[in-house]
Amino acid sequence: MQEYQHILLALDYSDHGAMVAGKARALADSYQAKLSIIHVLDNIPMPDTNYGTVIPVDKNSGYELLEKEKARFMQLGRQLRVEPDNRWLIWGVPKQEIVRIAEQERVDLIVLGSHGRHGLALLLGATANSVLHYAKCDVLAVRLKDG
Ligand code: AMP
Repeated sequence: MQEYQHILLALDYSDHGAMVAGKARALADSYQAKLSIIHVLDNIPMPDTNYGTVIPVDKNSGYELLEKEKARFMQLGRQLRVEPDNRWLIWGVPKQEIVRIAEQERVDLIVLGSHGRHGLALLLGATANSVLHYAKCDVLAVRLKDG
């Protein structure tokens, strides 16, 4: 089997995030792959800065909410032993930005959580479903149990 060389972990800070992150870290270790992380900000207003959609994590924005998001993201990056250059904090729509950064950075495996639902079908969550559909690389959707 061909080994993965670059794994992208999509982080959303949900209750199950640590479990998904642990799996991504373990996979990267076992393949000796580069691990990158991405968090897409879709729930805080875009402050009036000179930045584009990619937020430079090493510069001060002067915007309190954003500084908190950055601090949380950087701490997770350190815990997961992800190099600063491989941490992506971005404004936008999660499903789009995850796929875009995966292509741009030549990722060969995206790891994210999926929300298993009961009912008509085993529907994935909106983000996982869309990433699975549009990503050009492999996608590992880690099953998350609801409730
Ligand atoms: P959902 O489809 O919204 O239930 O989310 C499924 C998975 O997509 C989560 O477990 C994360 O791995 C990823 N994800 C969701 N929202 C974001 C986000 N804002 N930034 C990065 N990854 C996300």
